Amino acid sequence: MAECLFCNIIAGDIPSTKVYEDETVYAFRDINPQTPVHILVIPKTHIESAAAVTEENKSLVADCFAAIAKIARAEGLDSGFRVVTNIGDDGGQTVHHLHFHILGGVKLSPKIV
Ligand code: 5GP
Ligand code: ZN
Repeated sequence: MAECLFCNIIAGDIPSTKVYEDETVYAFRDINPQTPVHILVIPKTHIESAAAVTEENKSLVADCFAAIAKIARAEGLDSGFRVVTNIGDDGGQTVHHLHFHILGGVKLSPKIV
């Protein structure tokens, strides 16, 4: 997956501002933050999007959410935040490696759903 931007970030070939890392998950600050706190949480294994989650790789999604909870505490997002994952072209996904946006540090609005 040498052509995948986020695989290259995990490999350290493209620099990023790391906020969290464990065996299966990497998290870093978004280069174009939409909120005061805007962090991307990704599995170290390449998964195209949430539409490519399977029985075999689904534990990595749980690993991402365990990391999200830890990161939110570390970032002081005690009064709330939002997690977003865009899927495919119609869903606005621009990087085709599964990622969860943590958006916070401000009162968010409007709600999409
Ligand atoms: P998507 O649009 O696929 O849901 O989200 C991709 C996100 O990756 C965008 O918010 C964009 O700002 C971020 N991004 C794109 N290229 C880079 C990069 O090289 N470094 C970092 N840190 N974020 C990036
Ligand atoms: Zn990738």
